[in-house]
Amino acid sequence: MLDINKIREDFPILNRKVNGKPLVYFDNAATSQTPKAVIDSIVDYYSNYNANIHRGVHTLSQEATNAYEEARHKIQKHFNASKSYEIILTSGTTHGINMVATGFADLLNDNDEIIVSALEHHSNIVPWQMLCEKTGAILKVIPMTDEGSLNMKEYKTLLSDRTKLVFVNHVSNALGTINPVKQIIDMAHEHGAAVLIDGAQATPHIKPDVQELDCEFYTCSAHKLCGPTGVGMIYGKEEWLHKLPPYQGGGEMISEVTFEKTTYADLPHKFEAGTPNIAGVIAFGVALDYMNSIGFDQIAAYENELLEYATEKLLSIEGMKLYGTAHEKAAVISFNIEGIHPYDIGSIVDKLGIAVRTGHHCAQPIMDYYRIPGTVRASFSFYNTKEEIDLLVDAVIRAKSMLI
Ligand SMILES: *Cc1c(COP(=O)(O)O)cnc(C)c1O
Repeated sequence: MLDINKIREDFPILNRKVNGKPLVYFDNAATSQTPKAVIDSIVDYYSNYNANIHRGVHTLSQEATNAYEEARHKIQKHFNASKSYEIILTSGTTHGINMVATGFADLLNDNDEIIVSALEHHSNIVPWQMLCEKTGAILKVIPMTDEGSLNMKEYKTLLSDRTKLVFVNHVSNALGTINPVKQIIDMAHEHGAAVLIDGAQATPHIKPDVQELDCEFYTCSAHKLCGPTGVGMIYGKEEWLHKLPPYQGGGEMISEVTFEKTTYADLPHKFEAGTPNIAGVIAFGVALDYMNSIGFDQIAAYENELLEYATEKLLSIEGMKLYGTAHEKAAVISFNIEGIHPYDIGSIVDKLGIAVRTGHHCAQPIMDYYRIPGTVRASFSFYNTKEEIDLLVDAVIRAKSMLI
């Protein structure tokens, strides 16, 4: 059992008021809140050992380098990568995906095929469209079903020996569906295709094991799992990180530079050009420590309880329509009330101190599938409570009575 009141004390922001009401934060799928330990680690870095890494002989630089590399080890352990240099530190999921998509331009021919899923975030669609334009490769889409799952039968028919890459998110940010990634990866491997998993939405709820999944790439953002914004990681299997060219040129990613020829640094530095977000990476490590100290099994069990509670309560409102009713779901609820625009609900509940997301959630193809402009999305974290869900339900009822 989690002591939620004690956990809530770790998050200073949960004490604030919004529009005169206590903040109820249900926009966790967009970004999570930050515990004090993570905030303190950033303050500590800038107060005590702010220096550039890997280059300096002086004490501060060595302390910063050690803390940065220690964070890489924590991330390696968390995701169970076999080597620390298979963890590339990035500015976030979008960066990781673009690193792979740009690199694959050198590895693809026309006639090659890339498969993405219908449940993707825009950041997981646009880079592949750009890659296909550049290479002449063809983009195929795994269709979705009414309950918001992937159609695995169709996926099987899309796969062929022309398939070079498969890209799916582990959990859909718009609907919360947990995709059967292990099965998707195994099926792709039967055709020799590489797989990149977008773990941005899964990692706050699930502790993935990249060796067990056997994916070629796995990427996520720290800010969705209690870490700071602008930092993330991509895991890549060593052989694939060797196959891909560097993403950006600059300092730190080279071994030797002359005007005739530059040779690239070893992994992971080949992909880490320029001065990284040092404080952010260190804080990412602290965020993983924090979440592991609570325990991902506990987190998942509690969030499931919140999801079931909220689903039942919201469904008791007349005219309520939920989107995404897959059996395997993370704690995300997307909904509309008949005859009301999601934006209007979002604005009214905000007046009551409740933060939800409205719109297409960077996943317009999903909205097109349901023929709706968007949804109201409430996404829960382990620091939320059933009392907060009751406040949301009351607020939605109030919004409905004002708008209809
Ligand atoms: C948030 C999110 C992204 C983008 O993450 P950034 O931190 O903005 O790069 C990509 N995919 C999914 C599924 C997401 O939820």
